Amino acid sequence: MASRKASAAGPGSALGSAGRDRAHLELAELGPLLEEKGEPGAAGSAAAEEPPCPAAREEEEEAEEEVVRVLTLPLQAHHAMEKMEEFVYKVWEGRWRVIPYDVLPDWLKDNDYLLHGHRPPMPSFRACFKSIFRIHTETGNIWTHLLGFVLFLCLGILTMLRPNMYFMAPLQEKVVFGMFFLGAVLCLSFSWLFHTVYCHSEKVSRTFSKLDYSGIALLIMGSFVPWLYYSFYCSPQPRLIYLSIVCVLGISAIIVAQWDRFATPKHRQTRAGVFLGLGLSGVVPTMHFTIAEGFVKATTVGQMGWFFLMAVMYITGAGLYAARIPERFFPGKFDIWFQSHQIFHVLVVAAAFVHFYGVSNLQEFRYGLEGGCTDDSLL
Ligand SMILES: [Zn+2]
Repeated sequence: MASRKASAAGPGSALGSAGRDRAHLELAELGPLLEEKGEPGAAGSAAAEEPPCPAAREEEEEAEEEVVRVLTLPLQAHHAMEKMEEFVYKVWEGRWRVIPYDVLPDWLKDNDYLLHGHRPPMPSFRACFKSIFRIHTETGNIWTHLLGFVLFLCLGILTMLRPNMYFMAPLQEKVVFGMFFLGAVLCLSFSWLFHTVYCHSEKVSRTFSKLDYSGIALLIMGSFVPWLYYSFYCSPQPRLIYLSIVCVLGISAIIVAQWDRFATPKHRQTRAGVFLGLGLSGVVPTMHFTIAEGFVKATTVGQMGWFFLMAVMYITGAGLYAARIPERFFPGKFDIWFQSHQIFHVLVVAAAFVHFYGVSNLQEFRYGLEGGCTDDSLL
């Protein structure tokens, strides 16, 4: 009786050590406990005292069963509510522990090479955001893009606040750089938000994963804008054509990312392929520039060395992500740090920074030429 009282006395007392130990058993125990309660009470004594005729007895028994059922259902519901309340309270207080991959619900199962250290499902945004400061499989994923987000937000603000005297066409150039920073800031913020609320619920995880993938497409599209603007500074027609193509491809990638199955582990390679394809569409304008201006100019004033480095970083990141290296070779050894997803995140931030450096050099070069297009060299 005492134990029954403790388990039903509400979240506060149930959080005691005894309550915690019984946590798994309580729901299973509930049925027999309630049956016990019904029999020795009113039902048991009434049956023992005066045995009337069999028909009347049967009726009475049926009525008793009905009473027990009527009492049992609301009690069960009440107890289930209490369990739920206790769980929410624990999550709210941050009193949850990391769990192994095997016990995760299907919608949280993404990478089976990460054996331990997963957050349990926590249907509370407050708990999800508090988990940013706890150690689990997503800690590295959250922080790599949260810090990247702060970096690009600062770089973006600094660029926008740069005096107009450093630009040939300040408004136009700031819009062009603004597109790049908008893409980077949206991509990185969608990403750290997704990794933070990923364990909230299936619906929230699905919604934010679509935002996360759309963000990657926005970063790639935004990166093309200043690069094409300065590389084809004096050739507005090819510039417009390439910009239009990358917009169409980027919007197509965003549409594909809205497909529910796109986020499933089965389509890991598809995802890597879609974004790799979008990024590699830059090969065509690169060839155009190199053929028109020659290899030397492409690698010097065209900054192709930096853009090549950026491409290598993105491709390496996407490859590690798709193949799940290094955790594939050492399952359980990279659960918390240095898993493929974190390396991919770091490479994305580094590649975006290298790209920014490259387009800043292109901008400086055009400024040095005073924006003139009379020179027969350089598109
Ligand atoms: Zn990510």
